[in-house]
Amino acid sequence: MMRQSSLWIVAAVTLVAGAWGMTDEWKSGVDWTEPRLVDTSTPVPSDAKVLFGGDNMDAWNGVQDWVIENGYAQIGSSVSSQDKFGDCQLHAEFATPEKVEGEGQGRGNSGIYFMGRYEVQILDSWENKTYFDGQCASIYKQRPPLVNACRKPGDWQTYDIIFKAPRFRADGSLKSPAYFTVLHNGVLVQDHTELRGATDYETPPKYTPHDGKDSLMLQFHGNPTRYRNIWVRDL
Ligand code: MG
Repeated sequence: MMRQSSLWIVAAVTLVAGAWGMTDEWKSGVDWTEPRLVDTSTPVPSDAKVLFGGDNMDAWNGVQDWVIENGYAQIGSSVSSQDKFGDCQLHAEFATPEKVEGEGQGRGNSGIYFMGRYEVQILDSWENKTYFDGQCASIYKQRPPLVNACRKPGDWQTYDIIFKAPRFRADGSLKSPAYFTVLHNGVLVQDHTELRGATDYETPPKYTPHDGKDSLMLQFHGNPTRYRNIWVRDL
């Protein structure tokens, strides 16, 4: 058995060796590539595609009856992005109508459809009850948000959404499902939520094979919801 004085010597040597950087450092051994530089000193990250910056809706198809003023765009028709996206990170700001009209699904309804099929719901869910998997920040008819982080009608709100596109095998069968992670006004509301297929109003969720990239869609549901600062990063 080691005597007390020997233990002290071992401890002292270990301390000195550590201080001189002589101990072995564990390294993963993985040959990582260097992370790309992204400039985040500007309002929009340098590698993001701006889909609406305040001036025009030129990045979208199907723009009719939209009102563009004061840096925002008020929806007048459903629109599809000209660019197509697969895995991506999206930032969008929206405001449901300040003047409260209608109820349930009829109040401030819009939505962001990834690949034209998978909807993150936009709704005025401020003191407005509806089915929970149809309220604001739900994955429509598949998953309610973890919490209701909705602001008042007319107030600007943010979505930060990370979307993982589904993958299909050559025979059309599903290889891996789609996933959504959503922050609503900075609060986690969807935590890597697995989708069971397209978010449809009339039919149960179901996957139908499609391309690896497709357009984003902003839904017009008859309510004058507003958007600003929409940008996307390919992942
Ligand atoms: Mg909707």
